[in-house]
Amino acid sequence: MASSQLPAWLQTSYNELMAQAQRQQLAHALLLQLSDGLGAHDLLKAIERGLMCRQVDAPCGHCKDCRLLQASSHPDCYWIAADGNQIKVDQIRELISALATTSQQGGSRLVVIEQAHRLNNAAANALLKTLEEPNENCFIILCSDTPGLLPATIISRCQRINVSGIDEAPIKHWLEQQGVDWQQHGWAYRIVGGPYALLDANTGERLQGLASARLAWRNALANGIVDANLAKYTAEHPQDSLQVLDWLLSKKLASLKTQQPLLSLKLGDFISQLWHTHQKLSQMPTINYVALCNRLVLEYKQLTKGN
Ligand SMILES: [Zn+2]
Repeated sequence: MASSQLPAWLQTSYNELMAQAQRQQLAHALLLQLSDGLGAHDLLKAIERGLMCRQVDAPCGHCKDCRLLQASSHPDCYWIAADGNQIKVDQIRELISALATTSQQGGSRLVVIEQAHRLNNAAANALLKTLEEPNENCFIILCSDTPGLLPATIISRCQRINVSGIDEAPIKHWLEQQGVDWQQHGWAYRIVGGPYALLDANTGERLQGLASARLAWRNALANGIVDANLAKYTAEHPQDSLQVLDWLLSKKLASLKTQQPLLSLKLGDFISQLWHTHQKLSQMPTINYVALCNRLVLEYKQLTKGN
């Protein structure tokens, strides 16, 4: 059954929602704060299967609802995604008029709005009334990794779907189940945007680049010399490169903590400065990356001098 393939951090949320649905206590408007890199799409698909199948052991996998879902052609499921950068008012109007008719298969209806923060103002306003007075047996799930960008009027009408337990241990376990070599690639899951994103990147060159950068930054921190390949990589992939450095420094900080409080403090400051630099990169189009790498390594050498 597909839901059993969900990773641990999604399974708990899924089980809670299905239990609420069985008790007929599931809210009609729901908000899921989760990125696709952490598995939002998989969770939404599992919820769809669980909600639409009307068998006791839902999702049974062989009833008409299940078969329609397997063929991606269930007429009572509506997935809305941004048209370009925005979810436009016409998309929402079209949805509302579809919901005004009765359910085609006679069961529940499900609306999923992915990247809901992309609803433009007119679309968000058009959706409000539907969220407030939902049709019977119709569930609307808004999904966003940045729900803070949604209007407060939308958020206040939705019940949140909580996802917890997104810790390294279950992520490691799940990635290994998916065939990822944790020692070699697992460390980079945060940098690429989450464990699901790591699977996407697994076949690409990005992970190789990150692994080379990790080695090059480690050498640079140890001997104080930035090699040409590292400077080149940083110029080409500044975000990835600085995140690798941040990962190395955070790991070092975690290993120090109690033994060297002064060094821990300095290193903590250095990491937060690095984070600010990282945030400002997009506003600095003419940055000299060779100079930046050298400055970072020099500052690191100075703060760790004598330790
Ligand atoms: Zn079924």
